Amino acid sequence: MPILLVFVLIAACLPIEWPAPPVDPPREVAASLTGCAVVLALLAAMTLRTWVVRTLQRDPDSRFEVAHVYGCWRRVLFFVNVGVTAGCVLGLGWGWLTRRELLVFWRGEARLAPFAELLVPLPYFALLFGCWLIYFDAERELHRALYKDDRPFWSRLAYILHNLRQFALLVLLPVALIATQQTLSRFAPETTRSDAYRAASLTVVPVMILFLPLVMKPLLGLQSMPAGPVRDRLEALAKRLNFRCTDFLLWPTHGAVANAMIVGLLPRVRFVVFTDRILEELPPEEVDAVFGHEVGHAKHGHIWLYAGFLTLSLSVLAALLLLVGQQLDAAMPVPTEYATWLGLVPVTLLGAYMFVVFGLLSRRCERQADVFGCKAVSCINPACVCHDEKTIYAKGGASLCPTGIRTFTRALERVAQINGFGGPQPEKQFTLGELLRGAWAWMRAWQHSPMPRRVAFLYTLLDSPTDEPRFQRRLAVFKWVLMLILAGALVALGQSVGWKELFDAM
Ligand SMILES: [Zn+2]
Ligand SMILES: [Zn+2]
Repeated sequence: MPILLVFVLIAACLPIEWPAPPVDPPREVAASLTGCAVVLALLAAMTLRTWVVRTLQRDPDSRFEVAHVYGCWRRVLFFVNVGVTAGCVLGLGWGWLTRRELLVFWRGEARLAPFAELLVPLPYFALLFGCWLIYFDAERELHRALYKDDRPFWSRLAYILHNLRQFALLVLLPVALIATQQTLSRFAPETTRSDAYRAASLTVVPVMILFLPLVMKPLLGLQSMPAGPVRDRLEALAKRLNFRCTDFLLWPTHGAVANAMIVGLLPRVRFVVFTDRILEELPPEEVDAVFGHEVGHAKHGHIWLYAGFLTLSLSVLAALLLLVGQQLDAAMPVPTEYATWLGLVPVTLLGAYMFVVFGLLSRRCERQADVFGCKAVSCINPACVCHDEKTIYAKGGASLCPTGIRTFTRALERVAQINGFGGPQPEKQFTLGELLRGAWAWMRAWQHSPMPRRVAFLYTLLDSPTDEPRFQRRLAVFKWVLMLILAGALVALGQSVGWKELFDAM
């Protein structure tokens, strides 16, 4: 859940006057209680690790059940860690302590030291790092049970580095940008109020999105896919689908993850990434199908759509908050002791908005990419029974055939199985546990929809192929209406709050 984490960490870094600890002496209480909370949470992780290692040593055949239980508890403990951090900052006085102690004198005034806001969520960073150290043993044992001695696992250091790299790219980068912005506004306020600075900070995000793919390769340790049959096949398919990218990349994960992704807006800085495991375990035609899904994202302009959606949404949100602020100021001023807490409002709103509205858009786009994945491995015969060497595939992914749909759904189910999402679905019951599990499945799949739903939709296309053009039409309408509503809202809000004020507030 990197996105949830980004919002929580950004909220922790905001200039808020966090409450002091409940009892005296405050400094000692805040530091020691926070330390205790972190140690307790690490003990929980240690218990899980020990259970995994012992169970597997006793009974290596239980690896699938153990992997499942381990995955579930690890996710629970992720939320525990976030909760513990929130408790430390809000209840035990850790946020208060950081903001009070880490001061420097600047132009005769005490100010929070540069980047000291990053130490407010320090309990989380400590927990995260501690958990990597602890979970390493459990994951190495699971890896051993799965691969015997055929494939070496990471060294402890390499494992931590592997996790750290992903965390740095997906979570730390946006949080660090916010911390930089706040540090600048503390130590160079006149600069941050200048129009040039505002224009620069507005362009930094699009520029980053554009060039991030170039940084990703060294940052995540991705390698150019070596020449050979796999690469030749992908290049041939890219050609047939009229798709261009800079390179095909391989992500070595020691068999931990089966996944693929596309990054980059422009063909010149666009990469398609495959993890080692997906290439090893999927038969060639299913790798084609997965590749087709990624190509589908580019063909349907999803990455551009997301960039436009985010830009518009952020502008609308800023304008909306400005409007509410103007109205509130006129009606009833906020008491000063609560004023800093108002910073939490935009972060919470944006988090909820992303989860609901972006989730809605993203799930539809994923479905569209799924359909393109089917088309990528479809032949020109809409009633075919199977494919062989003589099969003629459609150019540009123009047609959809039953075998193509089946190949893609097989690939989807296999990837789910490998990543531990699959398995037979238990009978649905209306118990609390079942409801919670269902809600959790949705939480996890907010960007993609749960796997059974994706597969079920593709199967409906087998029975009634005319549903496909209708789905595409409806989706096009949905995208246009969404973007027009956002653009309309921005124009209306911009007019009422004033464009100059809006630009200054961004
Ligand atoms: Zn996708
Ligand atoms: Zn076919």
